[in-house]
Amino acid sequence: MTNERAGEGPGRVGQVKEITSLSNPIIKDIKALALKKTRDETGSFMAEGLKLVIDALALGWTIRTLVYSKEAKGKPQVEEVAVRTVAKGGLVLEVSAKVIGAITRRDNPQMVVGIFEQKLTKLDSLRPTLGETYVALDRVRDPGNLGTIIRTADAAGASGVILIGETTDPFSLETVRATMGSVFAVPVIRASQADFLAWRRKADVSIVATHLAGAVDYRTIDYKKKPVVLLMGNEQQGIPDELAKAADALARIPQAGRADSLNLAIATGVMLFEARRHLLSLEARG
Ligand code: SAM
Repeated sequence: MTNERAGEGPGRVGQVKEITSLSNPIIKDIKALALKKTRDETGSFMAEGLKLVIDALALGWTIRTLVYSKEAKGKPQVEEVAVRTVAKGGLVLEVSAKVIGAITRRDNPQMVVGIFEQKLTKLDSLRPTLGETYVALDRVRDPGNLGTIIRTADAAGASGVILIGETTDPFSLETVRATMGSVFAVPVIRASQADFLAWRRKADVSIVATHLAGAVDYRTIDYKKKPVVLLMGNEQQGIPDELAKAADALARIPQAGRADSLNLAIATGVMLFEARRHLLSLEARG
């Protein structure tokens, strides 16, 4: 059952819907965002947590719906994001703990959830400049890997993550969770392999592909002379020949022990912090 009532915060009187029923159609629509098909059709996705919602709004993302649990009612920061959501024409829902648990599929859910408009950056709009680093992921499959890579790219100061070919959805709940908010800070770009190769021919970048058969130790590469694109392979198959051929270097991370390879997200982290070593310091955080 849905009933409309007066909101308490200034500027949003009558704008808050109170919902306690799981069969409410709005809640059903939000729950359907667990499906890629619904996310694609609506162009929206879900992010959990008050801090994430505040950061996303500060970074200019468009919020469509703010959901908060009754326990969060009256908290000044929640009131503030509710006012901002209404001001942008969004919907504000005050729901029971049961409802927010069902939306997020968690036993101990966050008290605040935002439904945002998806935003991707176009490959053609990228004009890499010296000091910039991009990560290009070939057909990344695992949502946890992708989320961890977006978070790590953010932490290393990378300028974007390029998704090549059919990849896992950057806007799935699992990926967004693993990014810990960095999905709002790091531009994500989608491209076919052909488009990536065409862009690569125009862009003045150094493509460093990582390969288990790479002949070059990743620590010997000059990452300073051009903007760098770190090309990482699919979890099962690695990098296909067409992409490997387009690279300026095939880099390998030396390994000891029995493991055949590193996990994709770990390998990306190792590469990112080496490629940006000269740009990162404990003093300057920018
Ligand atoms: N069976 C795959 C193969 O033969 O390439 C293993 C892929 S590995 C799990 C996923 C990706 O992580 C690789 O394609 C590569 O980009 C990167 N990677 C993992 N370990 C690496 C290493 N020691 N040196 C360079 N790249 C590595």
